[in-house]
Amino acid sequence: MAAIDLHIHSTASDGSLTPNEILHEASKRGLATIALADHDTIAGLPEAIAAGQRLGIGVVPAAEFNADFGPDEVHILGYGIDYTLPWLQDYFRRAQEKRRQRVSAIVDNLRRIYGFPIDFTSVEQMVGHGVATRGHINKRLLQLGVVASAQEAHEHYTAKGRPAYVERTTADAPEILAMIRRAGGRSVIAHPGRITNQDVIPRLIAAGIDGIECYYWTHSPDEETYYLSLARRHGLLVTGGSDCHGPKYNASGQVRMGLVELSEALVAPVTALAVR
Ligand SMILES: [Zn+2]
Ligand SMILES: [Zn+2]
Repeated sequence: MAAIDLHIHSTASDGSLTPNEILHEASKRGLATIALADHDTIAGLPEAIAAGQRLGIGVVPAAEFNADFGPDEVHILGYGIDYTLPWLQDYFRRAQEKRRQRVSAIVDNLRRIYGFPIDFTSVEQMVGHGVATRGHINKRLLQLGVVASAQEAHEHYTAKGRPAYVERTTADAPEILAMIRRAGGRSVIAHPGRITNQDVIPRLIAAGIDGIECYYWTHSPDEETYYLSLARRHGLLVTGGSDCHGPKYNASGQVRMGLVELSEALVAPVTALAVR
C-alpha cells in the first residue's frame, strides 16, 4: 500500500469525511503524508493540519482549482500554497459564490424544464459547509427517486450539453497558475487521463505548469507510464492520489484513500511541502 495520497476531498468541498475524519482514516491506513485538495476552498486545511500534527501525518496544504483554458475546462492542483493569505481567501470566497449561483440556476432549470420537485434549499442542506457542485444536484435527484443513480442524473440531466446545464465562469488557467505561484505553491495538472482533449496538456506545459498528476485511480498502467515520461521529458513534478471523496460518494461504500500506488521517491519534492 502506498504511504502517500496527494489528492483527497473533505466536507469542506464535496467529500463526505471531515478533515479530522480523513486524518484518522489516513492514520488507520498507515499513511505518512496526505494532501487535502478541496475544490476551490482552503477552509478544511487548518483542521486537517492540526489533526495531522496530533497523529504524526504530514499534510500538504492544497486546493483543486477549476479553470477554463480556451474552450476546455481543466482542474489544476495547487500544492504548498500559503492558505493564510487574505487575497487567496477572497478568491475562494468569490469562486464559491459563483458556484452557488450556478448550482442554483441548474436547479431552477431542472424544475422548469422537467418539472422535478427539486429546490435549491434542499441541495444547499446537502452541501452543508461544503462547496456546491453538480454532484450534489445528482445526489439530490437520486434521493428524489427521479433517477436510479447519480451517474444517470449526470448523463441525462446535469452534464454539459443537456438542456438544464449552465456554463461555468471560472478563472483562466494562466491566471490560476500565476495565483498558485504568488501564493508560494506549485501547480499540477489534475487527472490528465480524464481530460478529453489531450492537446490541453502540452498547452498547460507551455503556460508554465509545474507538474502532472501521473498516478491517479482511473489511470491505466499505460497512461501512468505515458504521463511519467512526459513529466520526465519536461522536468516536471510528479504527483498522485486517489481523489477520495469518502464512502458516500462511492457505490460500494469503499474509501479509496491510499489505494493508488506511487513512487515515494518521485513525489518527494511535493511531500516535502507538507506541514508536520
Ligand atoms: Zn478534479
Ligand atoms: Zn479532485
